[in-house]
Amino acid sequence: ASTVYAAPNTPGAAVNYRPRYDNFIGGKYVPPASGQYFENVTPVTGKPFTEVARGTAPDVDAAVEAGWRAFQSWGKTSVAERALLLNRIADRMEQNLELLAVAETWDNGKPIRETLAADLPLAIDHFRYFAGAIRAQEGGISEIDHDTVAYHFHEPLGVVGQIIPWNFPLLMATWKLAPALAAGNCVVLKPAEQTPASIHVWLDLVKDLIPDGVLNIVNGFGIEAGAPLAQHPRIRKIAFTGETTTGRLIMQYATQNLIPVTLELGGKSPNIFFEDVAAQHDAFYEKAQEGFGFFALNQGEVCTCPSRALVQSSIYDGFVSDGLARVAGFKQGNPLDLSTQVGAQASNDQLEKILSYFDIGKQEGARVLIGGERADLGGDLAGGYYVQPTVFEGQNKMRIFQEEIFGPVVALTSFSDFDDAISIANDTLYGLGAGVWARDGALQYRAGRAIEAGRVWTNTYHQYPAHAAFGGYKQSGIGRENHKMMLDHYQQTKNLLVSYAEGPM
Ligand code: NAD
Repeated sequence: ASTVYAAPNTPGAAVNYRPRYDNFIGGKYVPPASGQYFENVTPVTGKPFTEVARGTAPDVDAAVEAGWRAFQSWGKTSVAERALLLNRIADRMEQNLELLAVAETWDNGKPIRETLAADLPLAIDHFRYFAGAIRAQEGGISEIDHDTVAYHFHEPLGVVGQIIPWNFPLLMATWKLAPALAAGNCVVLKPAEQTPASIHVWLDLVKDLIPDGVLNIVNGFGIEAGAPLAQHPRIRKIAFTGETTTGRLIMQYATQNLIPVTLELGGKSPNIFFEDVAAQHDAFYEKAQEGFGFFALNQGEVCTCPSRALVQSSIYDGFVSDGLARVAGFKQGNPLDLSTQVGAQASNDQLEKILSYFDIGKQEGARVLIGGERADLGGDLAGGYYVQPTVFEGQNKMRIFQEEIFGPVVALTSFSDFDDAISIANDTLYGLGAGVWARDGALQYRAGRAIEAGRVWTNTYHQYPAHAAFGGYKQSGIGRENHKMMLDHYQQTKNLLVSYAEGPM
């Protein structure tokens, strides 16, 4: 059978969830001050499978307090000790990779082939990368005069707040935690309310490695738990990934305390196919076709989803018809089945949002080339949140080209020449990712430099190595994640200016 991984709580289950998860504060599971819990539903079947603490401001207070207690010693640990912690977390994850992959798939709905091959390996490598990066980091000195030296030290900020979304729960947690802990900070993390469980499965595996209070997790909703965290007067930084509208609020909160913010927000990434791609129907052409189909990766719930495809008019008909054949071949099904390529959307709200954009696209005159409906997979999956991979054809002023849908949906249009391609590509509020496909090197370079986006993939897409900077232009965010430059966002510079002169100044 191709279904290698049984669903949790059935015979042969890989993951045994606890019936209830509390907040994790000061190294212990602590019930929420409100006494309330909320259900966690799996998008695979639409049924609840555990419940999670509904955190509020008093829980955030306790977590921040526990963070500061722990910071007194964690902030002074050697970089070798911090690197060791990160490496041990990575090892523990690697030893339990399949278990974590099942937990992530069950919580989020994404295919197990992706969690096994991408989400978890990337998260593991991220911990290892920052374990190495912090050990290789050096300060600097400036020689002021013969007897006077300015030393520059990297110091941690203290207790930092981190708020993450539901589309890559474990990977987004890792992107935030690894650099923050490597830099010597203590953390209060708030997972997304749609996907809180996989992080607790992860925590159960690694919590014995982490000193009490260094990592605290407060579960709950955005307004009830996220806002008190982002507004807390005792946090020294807030890092946020989520929607642009929420990012604006986070920035307002941060101004109250004058603390730094990093924001990873939405996107409407253009994926541009220049005509020389189709010069031959060879391996490169196949790769470009694969790049076209990447809009359905992770059911399109990726901030860098290539959700706008721009194909040069001279190759449009042939390229699009090959692309549609590829999309028609995507296997949609139970996310726990190893052969499934397209799984479930993460929540019912997200499902409904996508369906509403199907109506919007049709009303504004876009043409559905394939898909455009909810996918009914029947059986146990009938209550799950499945959407057909969808290609709309239209023009860039339409809402489906301008607004983030966050589903397996691409808005397709054509362009005449280089200038036309760049002007369509940049006609968006966002600037997170982009794809350029061309054989000509100068064309690749000129397009890459002309597109207003923080990450331009050239003849590739959806690669997320730990050591390449990631982040947005325009309304897609502030700051970068990944790469050792991320450490700058979690450290401050201490300058010691010392005179070694014996006599008067
Ligand atoms: P969201 O903004 O609704 O929620 C994200 C997190 O913020 C959740 O934990 C939520 O509880 C919390 N939150 C909501 N309101 C809050 C408030 N007022 N104060 C504090 N916290 C609050 O976003 P989402 O719908 O969960 O995530 C999808 C979005 O994330 C998409 O727009 C996507 O593009 C973006 N995203 C961006 C990146 C990136 O790196 N740029 C990565 C992944 C996802």
